[in-house]
Amino acid sequence: MTIWNPWHGCKKYSSGCINCYVYRRDSEFGKDSSIVSKTTQFDLPLKKKRDGEYRITENDNPIYTCMTSDFFIDEADEWRSEIWSIIRQRPELQFKIITKRVLRIEQCLPNDWGKGYENVTLISTCENQEEADKRLPVFIKLPAVRKEIILEPLLSKVDISAYLATGEISYVTCGGESGENVRPCNFDWVLDLREQCIKSNINFYFKQTGTTFIKDKKIYHIDRKFQMTQADKAGINFTTNSLPEIKDILNRLSKSEFRSRFKLKNDDVHYINEKGLDTIERHTYDFIRNRLAPEIILNDGKQTPMKGHPTFIAQHACACCCRSCLNKWYGIEKNKPLSEKEISYIADVLMQWIRLQYEK
Ligand code: SF4
Repeated sequence: MTIWNPWHGCKKYSSGCINCYVYRRDSEFGKDSSIVSKTTQFDLPLKKKRDGEYRITENDNPIYTCMTSDFFIDEADEWRSEIWSIIRQRPELQFKIITKRVLRIEQCLPNDWGKGYENVTLISTCENQEEADKRLPVFIKLPAVRKEIILEPLLSKVDISAYLATGEISYVTCGGESGENVRPCNFDWVLDLREQCIKSNINFYFKQTGTTFIKDKKIYHIDRKFQMTQADKAGINFTTNSLPEIKDILNRLSKSEFRSRFKLKNDDVHYINEKGLDTIERHTYDFIRNRLAPEIILNDGKQTPMKGHPTFIAQHACACCCRSCLNKWYGIEKNKPLSEKEISYIADVLMQWIRLQYEK
């Protein structure tokens, strides 16, 4: 994960901004947070190292933008077209754009946005019912490849079930407010959101408790360094079982500079000619079962050779080479055995890639 702040500074916009951490942090240095100005990171995704490689690579995904401002703030209108151009130039990076200014998104989208850029996730934050009902009806209608909601700081019970039911939202995150003299977050509100997500089969993540946390009518004051671990300990995150559509994932992989370098070579094609695709498929299942499926893999990250079998090449091209890559690209949890459904899904991905390459 990387943070890219092309500009710094923001104007308070709604009740969620009252204890904004940007203002809090800037005030320690006597800085006026309401002045919005470009930063030296403005073109960070295009910056290169001495050897000519980009400083930020897909290993740094996702790229969170404007964490000390708001991407759609009016003060940045004149700079935003340059930012869209930078985003277009790095299709292998996954940009996450979090905003409270949902009502401004449409007018700020680039002309070639279409149904949304493949590498951009739009995220609406809302802190209470009033803001959810203002922003989300607009948000669900916006074109975007992926849309998420963050309820942080969560200031009240919020019913977003009607918006979730549209199928437009893929992920919901919530959390309390950090800092001193902050507003409380009630665990009941968190659990209620979780139920709404489960009903609509949407991923749910309880990120942090905030400083003042109410559980079973008791008030807890939680130190900053424990707020995330305490949320984690609640063990209430929910992950859908849905795996990405194969055509979508192959399309995404083809845009990755690293993954798209892998191609079948003449030796691989001869091997397929000699053995036939049915045998290759059998080998593929064997490789997945023996090298990827177990709960504990001692050489995880090194179990897939770079050559020697068409399936190995397909595994690197399709990010099915180790459990970390499976987790990153497919959301398949590490440290637990692969299910039969996951095994056959991975085999389908690999065999589709092999067939496409073979038939070229
Ligand atoms: S929109 Fe975000 S960055 Fe801007 S003032 Fe509100 S909380 Fe702070």
